[in-house]
Amino acid sequence: MSDLTRLDASETAAAVAAGEVTAREVAGAHLDRIEQTDEAVHAFVHVDRELTLAAADAVDAARASGGPLGPLAGVPLALKDVFTMRGAPTTCGSKILDGWRPPYDATVVERLRDAGVVVLGKTNMDEFAMGSSTENSAYGVTHNPWNLERIPGGSSGGSSAAVAARQAPLAIGTDTGGSIRQPAAVTGIVGVKPTYGAVSRYGLVAFSSSLDQGGPFARSVLDAALLHEVMAGHDPRDATSIDAPVPPVAAAARGELGGVDGLKVGVVTQLQGEGYQPGVQARFDEVVQLLTSLGADVVEVSCPSFDYALPAYYLIAPSECSSNLARFDGMRYGLRAGDDGKNGVEQVMAITRAEGFGPEVKRRIMLGTYALSAGYYDAYYGQAQKVRTLIRRDFEAAYRDVDVLLSPTTPTVAFPIGERADDPVAMYKADLATLPSSLYGGPAMSLPAGLGDDDLPVGVQLMAAVQRDEQVYRVGAALESALQERWGGPLLDRIPELATGGAA
Ligand code: GLN
Repeated sequence: MSDLTRLDASETAAAVAAGEVTAREVAGAHLDRIEQTDEAVHAFVHVDRELTLAAADAVDAARASGGPLGPLAGVPLALKDVFTMRGAPTTCGSKILDGWRPPYDATVVERLRDAGVVVLGKTNMDEFAMGSSTENSAYGVTHNPWNLERIPGGSSGGSSAAVAARQAPLAIGTDTGGSIRQPAAVTGIVGVKPTYGAVSRYGLVAFSSSLDQGGPFARSVLDAALLHEVMAGHDPRDATSIDAPVPPVAAAARGELGGVDGLKVGVVTQLQGEGYQPGVQARFDEVVQLLTSLGADVVEVSCPSFDYALPAYYLIAPSECSSNLARFDGMRYGLRAGDDGKNGVEQVMAITRAEGFGPEVKRRIMLGTYALSAGYYDAYYGQAQKVRTLIRRDFEAAYRDVDVLLSPTTPTVAFPIGERADDPVAMYKADLATLPSSLYGGPAMSLPAGLGDDDLPVGVQLMAAVQRDEQVYRVGAALESALQERWGGPLLDRIPELATGGAA
């Protein structure tokens, strides 16, 4: 077979199952691609060739012995470095975890192995998943493969860049306020935040526990669905894990639940217009027209409380983070600084935290500690929780009338590296459209909608009610084929070829 890095995950799985190619050959092609391109992109913080090839060999051995093959057997994947995996370090993009090798696998990693997925390595991310650009990593900046001077989104920017650069057909990210959807949008790929509680958080280092959710990145809606079904499902080791069947997302992605004809689609008034780049708005308006031409009943839906999602999120997430990150004290994991035999334990903790955490993490811990402190709790954290309830009610009211809600995924295309680095509020605004469904907990997908300003990718966001994940896949799949017809093929076909270090 010619270039194995051009195959979709579903095509790769079929080829491996049919014996047309070995898992080892597929893994090797992707490891080579990483070697050739990652100096420029820097999607990965850790790649272990031997471990990867051993995992691939296990798949080939299972096939040779006629054993059962998992649904994604032999498909390579890039894993965000916020999930624990035995045999590899977990850094969360932070210096404070430098050198930590977790002794256990995240549930998600166990499920990947059971499905025959071959993990290529760990991807770069904003420190503890706080950010929208992957510039807040202690291990360097990741570059957008569409334009190496632009950000790949964040916080899962290593994962989105890896998929866009054909270093991996699949990747896993986490989405607390948009960290799967926003990077997917700005790199021209598909990214899904499943319903909160669908994917186990066991072995996912916590940022904001009531919001954190793992989910898939892929180059097609079907591939995302296949990975979604591998990742999701009840886990008794996660107290918020949903104990109910996973919605039929793969069937929906295959069109088995029908297209969009007769579906009711709501366009959210608050998530468009002012603040959205002309190119983003133009692609979004085309998607709305396309849906109408496919027979959907498109209406405008007003969700007034969405205007307060950003301030509410930036109180709730830092509050939860200030509690979750207290465990990084220099005693149990990774870095320990100032332990010279003279400093007391509290001084060692203070020195370790001062050296180990970056500026954005420190900012969030201070914001959260303040918002939770006696005397301010009601005015900040309590008030934000009330807004969260109002947002949930707006969603519930909307879903009594419509099947899915629609908005642009991000206000702008990928911005230049460095542009917002010193302006936290400008950075936070990248999440304007993704925060509401995070606070609500429903599923949401970002789908490539075409090119916008500066010829960079634009994403459209599809949202659905809690546990109705199949709806976003159903509409996503129908839109994907309509959009590909309009643009003459997959959007990623238009990505400029990266200069490769070796022979391509
Ligand atoms: N950009 C948002 C933040 O910085 C969302 C991050 C995320 O989803 N992990 O908090």
